[in-house]
Amino acid sequence: MSQSPKARVIESTMTVVDMNTGEEHQRSFNWHAMPVAPHLCQICATDHDPLILHNRDSVYYGIMFGNFFGRGPTWADAVAHCSDQIKEQCKTFLVAKGAWSEPPEGMTPIAHFGEHT
Ligand SMILES: [Zn+2]
Repeated sequence: MSQSPKARVIESTMTVVDMNTGEEHQRSFNWHAMPVAPHLCQICATDHDPLILHNRDSVYYGIMFGNFFGRGPTWADAVAHCSDQIKEQCKTFLVAKGAWSEPPEGMTPIAHFGEHT
């Protein structure tokens, strides 16, 4: 009999607002994320060639990235691990679609994160 997959525990915090007083309090909580299926990209949980961009719109990628870095992933992050040629092709395509996004001013794109670096 095989073992069940072990959920990944990610520590986080949330803001709780007292609806009577309006006071805000920080509370700790844990996310429990199931492991990504082994045939999928372990960064974005999407089925793609490792040489091309991550799925910036993946909910898994968004939650994990946001938990580690405090902001959502951008397309510049999603292509950061790609070759310069693929980066340029993706950027050109996404700029033409009006969809290209980059990290906030002063931040550099992040290619990988957490245990996958
Ligand atoms: Zn990916």
